[in-house]
Amino acid sequence: MLRDEVTRLLQELVRLDTANPPGNETQAAELLRGYLEGAGLTCELYAREPQRANLVARLPGRGEGPSVLLLCHTDTVVADPEEWSVDPWSGELRDGCVWGRGALDMKGHVAAATVAIATLARGGFEPAGDLLIAATADEEVGVDVGLSWLVRAHPDAVRADYCVNEGGGDRVVVDGRPVYLCSTAEKMSAPFKLRVHGRSGHASTPGIADNALVRAARLIQRVAEIRQPPRLIPETEALFSALGRVPAPSELERTVRSLPPELRATVEPILGIAISPTMITGSRRTNVIPGLVEVVCDCRLLPGETPEDAEPIIRAALGEDSYDLEWIEAVGGTRSPLDTPLWDVIESFVAASEPGARVVPVVSPGFTDSHFLREAFGTVSYGFFPMRTMSPDLAARLIHSADERIEVDDLELGTEFLLHVARALGSRG
Ligand SMILES: [Zn+2]
Repeated sequence: MLRDEVTRLLQELVRLDTANPPGNETQAAELLRGYLEGAGLTCELYAREPQRANLVARLPGRGEGPSVLLLCHTDTVVADPEEWSVDPWSGELRDGCVWGRGALDMKGHVAAATVAIATLARGGFEPAGDLLIAATADEEVGVDVGLSWLVRAHPDAVRADYCVNEGGGDRVVVDGRPVYLCSTAEKMSAPFKLRVHGRSGHASTPGIADNALVRAARLIQRVAEIRQPPRLIPETEALFSALGRVPAPSELERTVRSLPPELRATVEPILGIAISPTMITGSRRTNVIPGLVEVVCDCRLLPGETPEDAEPIIRAALGEDSYDLEWIEAVGGTRSPLDTPLWDVIESFVAASEPGARVVPVVSPGFTDSHFLREAFGTVSYGFFPMRTMSPDLAARLIHSADERIEVDDLELGTEFLLHVARALGSRG
């Protein structure tokens, strides 16, 4: 039984502590290798550091169709057992759920993808193009030993035309109709630093100084108040169109406010830029007025936007003042097209598994490993793992938090979904 098989594999995965840092993902890669080799698949472990191996297995195709990659990561965030009602590494089966760190993010998906490709291999399935699974290390932290490293060091191992990854699959109900969210693009993370200048001095005589911290307070307030008129990008247009109607720019805010809360939470961040001041460093001594203060702001841009586009907006809000603006980095912000065979396959799965349900594209407010594939190979990569039983707001509260668990029903649905993707795309060409 698929359901029992994927449940057992997930329990075994959860029992391996791969909290990152330090990760120690090799133990998960070894477990998966044993399981996949048992199904007749050839596996390769790629490790930049011995304890942090990535696993790739391939079901060779007939060379007549597109290659398909099932992408997942084996590391998890850390867990504090004090906060949990079960041992976070127990993999306990209780109330129809598998409990433990990583059950949702994303060992459940790892187990589902592994069982899917093993099932196909055992059944003698020969896809049109290669079918791959990559269970990678180090998604949660990013010290360049996971997919970022694989695409550079072993590009032939992970290159693929299509990829299914994490980042979507939530089910929400809009106007009485079920809608599944598929992540097709991601915002760019482009944090910047403000170096705010003043003149230092002894705090006993503030009149002789020019306090950079007080100036920074003013500038932080201005950054926090940046509001751009919301705007539509192709992904949000397609989303509203699938829901029934694309609102005019003047109605956009009102339309978004009328969405159910879970969908509104997803759509609001993708209407424009989002800036949050997050870090500050000033004087190191109580009695010294700082002459320089550094403020770091988290900044998220829409796919297609660049820091150069955002800078005039930020500068206009800050006004004339004594500061420098320095961009720290720019990561993500990639998108895949919406009109693809992979999209059709996801739609056909959703329509068959829940009649009347639709799929709509969304842009992830954060980024996943998909951007490495899009940048390196132009892979069409979507985030989708359907969740029908657990509500999206409960899932959002459990991910990276205490009592993380996945419904076995959802685990089974996800396995069937990945099987469907592999079969449908693998029978093309
Ligand atoms: Zn994840």
